[in-house]
Amino acid sequence: MTPRAFSVEVVEKLQNAGFEAFWAGGCVRDQILGIEPQDYDVATNATPDQIRTTFGKNRTLAIGAAFGVITVLGPKSAGQVEVATFRKDGGYSDGRRPDSVEFTDAKEDALRRDFTINGMFFDPTTGNLIDYVNGKEDLGKRLIRAIGTPEDRIQEDKLRMLRAVRFAATYDFAIEPETMHAIQGAATELTVVSGERIGTEMRRMLSHPNRATAVSLLQETRLIEKIIPNAAALFPNQATWDELLSQLRRLVGDFESALAVLMEPIFTDSTFNSVSNGWKLSNHEIKTVRWIHQNWKKLANADQHPWSVIQPLLIQSQALPALALATCQTETTGIGIQFCRERLAWEPEKLNPLPLLDGGALIKLGIPPGPKFSLILSDVRSAQLDGEISTTEQAMKRAQQSVG
Ligand code: ATP
Ligand code: MG
Repeated sequence: MTPRAFSVEVVEKLQNAGFEAFWAGGCVRDQILGIEPQDYDVATNATPDQIRTTFGKNRTLAIGAAFGVITVLGPKSAGQVEVATFRKDGGYSDGRRPDSVEFTDAKEDALRRDFTINGMFFDPTTGNLIDYVNGKEDLGKRLIRAIGTPEDRIQEDKLRMLRAVRFAATYDFAIEPETMHAIQGAATELTVVSGERIGTEMRRMLSHPNRATAVSLLQETRLIEKIIPNAAALFPNQATWDELLSQLRRLVGDFESALAVLMEPIFTDSTFNSVSNGWKLSNHEIKTVRWIHQNWKKLANADQHPWSVIQPLLIQSQALPALALATCQTETTGIGIQFCRERLAWEPEKLNPLPLLDGGALIKLGIPPGPKFSLILSDVRSAQLDGEISTTEQAMKRAQQSVG
């Protein structure tokens, strides 16, 4: 069963038990846009207890019950559906999360949502759209507009500023002027949002092909100054900033390569540490971005280095994102990059041939493990890669000569 079919089944089951139930939020938006929703959320006037009774304790999880959310488990292929009781949020004293929630009706549940395009319900059994917030109209106009008074809605939850930018960039929508104004006025207050949430939003924005639009909006909203230390140094003048945006537009790459492009003009250990700590990046992400920063120039100039210098870089998994960065730096692809791409297409045994000598062979030659040991091995390996030697005999001879 598909996730979609299962979510329809969940809605029907609630309706047959006498409750109101609809698809809600993101899945309604995506369905109208003709995009496959990532997941289907259901909203209902059934209370968490009533939801659990309807589907049975065994098929439900009550982890989010305090906020009125019950997870209904489907057959394996269908995943799970979050079923939420219509609610309105109590006060927001921390600028991020509601202090309490109160169960209410569909209309008030629509009004507590962030943007009009995210505030609609849809009844998949009848095909009815339930739209208290003019979301359909704003979808048509391709606008991100806060529901209600933008200043108030942004004050309640500062994360909404980043969500506005992400939705605008990834859907190629504009941010409605009053909503934009409210974000610009509150941008410095982004600091109340946790690093994890900032990281999650940035990861989604920078992973998306429209990442240049996202970065441009982060600058226009002034959020960028709370997200990247020393961000002002990225736009000392319009030409420099335009060039960086062009690079991001040309980039064909993943999150790490995009972050490396963005950081490159201001990359120091301290600026990158503060981004990686601030966004709570994973060790893998941190390692990859550092590697790209340290090695991309060598790859871009691969034609000017011996193969024994380039080969050990190209066989690393970070070589592809590093080449992506190198490629987007200029409009035409340089010969160093072309060289790397040709070599990457080589058969694995040719790109990374087995070593002629290993440590065991050196010990048999009577060379004791020590500081010299790995130097000799790497000298022999370089000679092999550069085509100076091609047999084990030649390799042993070269090792013996270098011991002296
Ligand atoms: P996507 O899953 O593609 O990021 P989404 O709109 O489904 O988009 P979710 O974070 O899954 O986003 O949230 C589901 C719905 O919950 C949203 O459509 C919106 O109605 C509401 N929502 C989510 N976060 C907030 C928030 N910070 N403030 C108000 N409403 C929110
Ligand atoms: Mg969602």
